[in-house]
Amino acid sequence: MGTIQVLRGTRDILPEETPLWQHVEAIARLCLQRSAYQEIRPPMIEQTALFERGIGEATDVVGKEMYTFEDRGGRSITLRPEITAGLVRAVIENNLVAQGSVQRLWHIGPAFRYERPQAGRQRQFHQLDVELIGSRSPRADAEVIAIATEILTTLGLKSLTMDLNSVGNGSDRQRYRDALVEYLTPFKDELDEDSQDRLTRNPLRILDSKAKRTQEIVQDAPDLLDYLGDDSKHHFDQVQQYLTDLGIAYQINPRLVRGLDYYTHTAFEIQSADLGAQATVCGGGRYDGLIAQLGGPDTPAIGWAIGMERLTLLLKQLNAQPKTAMDVYIVSRGEAAEANALTLAHGLRQAGLAVEMDLSGSAFGKQFKRADRSGAIACLVIGDAEAEQGTTQLKWLHTGQQEERTQTDLLAGAKELRSQILAARQVNS
Ligand code: ATP
Ligand code: MG
Repeated sequence: MGTIQVLRGTRDILPEETPLWQHVEAIARLCLQRSAYQEIRPPMIEQTALFERGIGEATDVVGKEMYTFEDRGGRSITLRPEITAGLVRAVIENNLVAQGSVQRLWHIGPAFRYERPQAGRQRQFHQLDVELIGSRSPRADAEVIAIATEILTTLGLKSLTMDLNSVGNGSDRQRYRDALVEYLTPFKDELDEDSQDRLTRNPLRILDSKAKRTQEIVQDAPDLLDYLGDDSKHHFDQVQQYLTDLGIAYQINPRLVRGLDYYTHTAFEIQSADLGAQATVCGGGRYDGLIAQLGGPDTPAIGWAIGMERLTLLLKQLNAQPKTAMDVYIVSRGEAAEANALTLAHGLRQAGLAVEMDLSGSAFGKQFKRADRSGAIACLVIGDAEAEQGTTQLKWLHTGQQEERTQTDLLAGAKELRSQILAARQVNS
């Protein structure tokens, strides 16, 4: 029988890679905490109807990409294809937005879409999702965008660009939709198949098409920005002014859209030239109509999602790969010494040190090689004699210096040992 392999479009994030993910998560957490955002953890499965209403049946995500199944009780269940809908459901269901209050929320976790797998595109992927619920102020737009750029730049990413647009409010968009359909209809036969379909169902999405001929046609389509009413224009101007105040660069892209009725005003995407075809690291926008659409009180909101796979791909190109290093590596040989190594490791861990114990029972030479590779600063050696006398050889791996210590002293002075190791590591790096 053959071995069972991971599902197509999914992958294992192996131990050599998790330090990078943890690093990203730590930076994100830091940036979010100091901006007053709180973590929320909604379930990964929801009623299918949530996504049909919350993302829209006319989208690719709902129309073609969802993992939907019937559970044993005959309910239609969907693995979340994104995080916003579930998060908004949780906010409504738990009454988190009382009149006039604001909720700043974030979540990180997997999402599922049945897509054609390729670099930066998987069937199970991860999103870092941030939502600011309850404010109509353009300052909210600027705050949310600033957090995205702050996280990305703190991680050391450069050569990022941001596209910004406004899709206005419902009536702006209705007028624009009519103009767009009027412009596109004579070209109907030349549009790609999906776009022909969208001409009646969701025409704004055609602007987003990746088909070459459709893109050419769309080049000369009317500009959404020319259809914004005064309020929408004012909101958009203010967002731009605030971004400029914050020193955040952007370019206006009038073809950037979110196709559904409850999207309003600001839409933005952050791209990297280093990602090839899947260039968008972060996508977001305002959705003042969604909460009401899902049965909640009429509440404005704005948010974004960063694709973690694309982000970590970029960081790997930067060679920014942190490692979690051990403080101490313990080598031992002989029955009594091995038992002693176990209790010493335990004692040092309780004193706050990161300790790896060699379990191989192989020759000292081989164990020393592994100690070097472990990245530990200090190596503790226990042989028969040391086990008998309650001592250990402390070998500093960065200098090769060696000294004998009693284990009692070592444990009593664990704090000191820790700061010595910390100092050695700083000198070394
Ligand atoms: P794309 O145009 O690349 O398909 P999208 O518009 O479908 O993106 P969103 O729904 O806005 O993407 O999701 C936000 C972010 O999540 C994207 O910018 C991307 O970084 C990431 N993302 C979306 N789908 C996938 C996927 N299948 N695999 C990996 N990351 C993804
Ligand atoms: Mg997509």
